[in-house]
Amino acid sequence: EKEHDAIRAKFHILVEGTDIPPPIKHFKDMKFPQPILDYLKTKGIHKPTPIQIQGLPVALSGRDMIGIAFTGSGKTLAFSLPLVMLSLEEEKKMPLVRGEGPFGMIICPSRELARQTYEGICVMAEFLEKDGYPKLRPLLCMGGISMQEQAHVMAGGIHLVVATPGRLQDFLEKKKFNLDLCKYLCMDEADRMIDMGFEDDVRNIMSYFISQRQTLLFSATMPKKIQDFAMSALVQPVVVNVGRAGA
Ligand code: ADP
Ligand code: MG
Repeated sequence: EKEHDAIRAKFHILVEGTDIPPPIKHFKDMKFPQPILDYLKTKGIHKPTPIQIQGLPVALSGRDMIGIAFTGSGKTLAFSLPLVMLSLEEEKKMPLVRGEGPFGMIICPSRELARQTYEGICVMAEFLEKDGYPKLRPLLCMGGISMQEQAHVMAGGIHLVVATPGRLQDFLEKKKFNLDLCKYLCMDEADRMIDMGFEDDVRNIMSYFISQRQTLLFSATMPKKIQDFAMSALVQPVVVNVGRAGA
């Protein structure tokens, strides 16, 4: 415990909540498959950033989480890697069949962010597949891509979705997704999402998800509005807050 607190202090990581999983200082101690470690190395990513040191163990543990860290601090990896791992586990339990999935979803406030997040996951999936792991099928769900194309990918079965709120709501209303097995829901840039007026949309989106899920919320700032929202939407979350001094 003392050792964990020392690591948190060193990296300016503030935590709130009960039974908080220990921080982990090295990727190699996080039980990732070798191709994921290779992927990180190729990207020039050698050591986890503070939000990753504490956020990855929390997200991988299945706990609800609020992750607060400044822009450029590596939040994307902190919520993408756990969903890739979850997808692999599901695939190992039972191979995906046509029309099945998703097991998890990441919601981003803009198309640009959704695309970046999706592309990062696709590269991880390539590294895994090259190394003999099952092929993961992600779906990018957003405006600007034809519905037909998205429906085609979906029909083949999908492990995970990266979406923007507008197109996602559209799909949910039309019952295009089966969310019975979708147990990971992450909202990126929650502050921006709320600023852009998506709060009601996000609440509506959440109502489609099973209650037995893991919910994660990431943000650069944590104004009162987001805090209230998070407390009403998450269950016993672990709050991981990295100050600027942690840079
Ligand atoms: P945020 O979402 O917190 O603003 P990003 O996840 O977009 O930050 O990451 C910013 C940049 O840092 C990206 O180019 C990403 O590849 C890189 N990055 C992420 N994690 C690490 C790390 N542990 N070490 C070095 N670079 C990293
Ligand atoms: Mg980000």
